[in-house]
Amino acid sequence: MRYETHWEFLKNSALLGKLSHAYLFSGNDEEGQQRLALQFSQLLNCESGAEKKPCGACSSCKGMRERTHPDAVWVSEAREIPISAIRNLRQHFSLSSWQSSFKIAVIERAHLMNMEAQSALLKLLEEPRKNVLLLLLCEYPALLLDTIRSRTQEMRWYAFSETAQESLKGTGELRRLGSSLLQERFDYAKKAAETSEDAAQILEGWLRVKRDVLLKAVQSAKDVARNMHMVQTMQEMLQVVKTTNVTPRLALDQVLVEL
Ligand SMILES: [Zn+2]
Repeated sequence: MRYETHWEFLKNSALLGKLSHAYLFSGNDEEGQQRLALQFSQLLNCESGAEKKPCGACSSCKGMRERTHPDAVWVSEAREIPISAIRNLRQHFSLSSWQSSFKIAVIERAHLMNMEAQSALLKLLEEPRKNVLLLLLCEYPALLLDTIRSRTQEMRWYAFSETAQESLKGTGELRRLGSSLLQERFDYAKKAAETSEDAAQILEGWLRVKRDVLLKAVQSAKDVARNMHMVQTMQEMLQVVKTTNVTPRLALDQVLVEL
């Protein structure tokens, strides 16, 4: 699935009046997710009444772009999204809309919501209102409560930006590790991942390779579940090394036993 496919899908859903209350944009293309969220927010409230593309020039489109639109809230945190941010959303949704037909909330890096915040969001999702739209942007959807995911419509896509050379290196490394003894894999993790940054870099490299493999698996409908599981494990471990004090090599071990 590509960006354009999702854009067409959202546009058509809006045209047909069949919008969900909440969408989850997942995958590693953060910039693409933001672009899609902005473009769609603009379209829904564009004053030109355009149905195919927002005009980009009216005060509503401008307000969306500058994040000053009174009917749109963007939650954008770098480390953790606290419950207060979700309470603000609830407040935002409970007010009647200021100037437009849709009240919108965008949560960037939604996987950064702590558990309290996720529970609060779940409550919000359980009481959908009319003309309210919630967009969750998220690289690691596995970190969201299942109950949140099941109440959103997930749209997933990945950006592939690695060079062919990097990819080749990662592929060879994964293949070699996959065919070596468990003890040798653990030795590798011990040597290679002294710091969390090391482990994160290694996992990111592996993920690039595995996502590619997953994409091909999906296209050929072969080995999808196994590769999907592998990618999810890698994503989870990457998030763990980035956000906790776990011993870096243990995070790699977790992946290596499953290779
Ligand atoms: Zn406009």
